[in-house]
This record gives sequence, structure tokens and C-alpha cells, in this order.
Amino acid sequence: MTGNIVQIQRFSTQDGPGIRTTIFFKGCNLRCAWCHNPETIDPKPSLGFFPDRCVGCGLCSQACPENAIGPHRQSFSPEKCRCCGICVQTCPENALSLFGEKKTVGELMALLLRDRRYFDNSGGGVTASGGEPMLQWEFIRELFAACRQNGISTALDTAGNVPFAHYEALLPLTDLFLFDMKIYDDAKHREYTGVGNARIQQNLKQLLDRGAAVEIRIPVLAGVNDSPEDMKKTAVLLGNAPKKVKLLPYHTLGLEKHLIVGQNNTRKFQTPEKEHLQELAKLFACPVEI
Ligand code: SF4
Ligand code: SF4
Repeated sequence: MTGNIVQIQRFSTQDGPGIRTTIFFKGCNLRCAWCHNPETIDPKPSLGFFPDRCVGCGLCSQACPENAIGPHRQSFSPEKCRCCGICVQTCPENALSLFGEKKTVGELMALLLRDRRYFDNSGGGVTASGGEPMLQWEFIRELFAACRQNGISTALDTAGNVPFAHYEALLPLTDLFLFDMKIYDDAKHREYTGVGNARIQQNLKQLLDRGAAVEIRIPVLAGVNDSPEDMKKTAVLLGNAPKKVKLLPYHTLGLEKHLIVGQNNTRKFQTPEKEHLQELAKLFACPVEI
């Protein structure tokens, strides 16, 4: 079995406690309007292009066996590209990148074990993120079982939209669930993410009822999900069961990634004021980090 991976980020400090290696899995079943990782959405491999690095030398066009790239890279035909990676190797400016690589558990463990002492010294470990890593839950079960055998702590960053049985399979192997709660209101959730939130809320409740360690992550977008009324409803739903709630104010970092993967999505939202976030934090019964 192999995992479909976009990126592996070592020495991460944002994806759970301590120093971590975060593995970004490819494929997602939500379509959040503010997505910061668009390269992870499509489960298929894809070619990324960094226009600001390109000097228009045309070497990629000459090298492509499928004629998918026009001279000097002024055009690209994704339907012709079979993601062979030849142009990526050819480009002298690192202006091209392949998103999506198959990795075995053995290959990932070799990488993780190199950082074992950083994990041990900092209370860190590995985090499976994405995309939606739970779309590859069977592979993650194998990976986390290997981590258990090697004493590496595990965290799973999920948006919650898969059958609960899949979480159940991972419960004994997961030290911390980083669970996204995007919008309390179901209709609004559907409008901004493409799916309703009934299953997500049900999964969260079941994880909490089963005593799993859960950190809730709420992206906060001004005018979308930052009303005290909506946040209060989320706070009531959670009670004091989660380990921690993290409010993540919207930011525009990463918006240019949409251009890198060939999407013209430049939709922007507003970042809520810090004082407003501090007021929202007071609504929760459990510890809140902003
Ligand atoms: S990845 Fe291969 S097929 Fe796709 S554009 Fe590059 S060289 Fe052509
Ligand atoms: S090889 Fe790289 S720098 Fe040259 S045209 Fe292609 S993408 Fe641009």
C-alpha cells in the first residue's frame, strides 16, 4: 500500500505539540472558499508552475514529450500532461513542481526516524494533514501503527467529513485529533465549503464521547463565521470536553498558490480584529489559543 503525498514538512511547530513532521496527503472532499492548500485538493498528481521564477527560456517546452507546454511557457495544456516530471527536472529555475507522490510506510518511517530525537526532546511527533488525510485512512492506520511500534507520537488533522468507522479504526493509534470546525450553521457551511456539517458535528461528538484527545481548530473569517451568536452555539456544542480550542484568524498567505496550480481563485475575505477574537475566546469553557 502507498500513500498519496503532496509534501512532507519537517520541524513544523503549528501542527500539534512540540517539533513535528507534517505529512500533507493529497485529496480533499471539502471545497473551502478560503482554502490555503489548493494543491492538496485534487487526488490526482498535478503540475505546479511558479510564474515569478520563470525566465521564459523554453527548455521545459522542448523537453516535454507530450507537447503540453507552449514555447517559452506562455501556454500549458493540462489535459495533455501525464505528470512524468521531465520538465521539472529540466527547468533551471525551479519554476515547476510535481504535486502528488506515492510513498510507502517504510519510506516515510525512514524519514520520521531521522527526526526521532527532536520529537523526543520537544514532545513532538508526526502529524497527518492535507487535504483530508482520512480519505487515506487505511494507509494512515498502517503508518500510525509503525509509529506506535517506534515510539513516535501521532496527530491527525481532519475536517471530519468521513464515516465514523474510519476514525474508530484510528482511535487506538492517534494521540491527538486536530479537528476543524469551520462554520456552525449548516446552510452557511454548505455555501462556503460545498458540504453540510451534520456528519462532521456528529463525528466530533462521538470522538469526544469516546474520550479522544481533541484540539478544535476554527478558522475565523470576518462576516462569515465570527458572529458571537454562531460562536456561542459552537462553544455550547463543545462544552469543556476538548483539550483546547484554537481560533485561526483568516490570512491571505498562500493565496498565490491558486495561481501556481492553475486556478484563478483570488476570492478574499476579511481578517477579524484581534480584540474581537479575544471576545469570542471568552465564550468557550475550555482553553482557547488565538
Ligand atoms: S510533467 Fe511531463 S507531460 Fe507534464 S508538462 Fe512536464 S514534461 Fe510534459
Ligand atoms: S524551463 Fe523553467 S524557466 Fe524555462 S520556460 Fe520552462 S518553467 Fe520557465
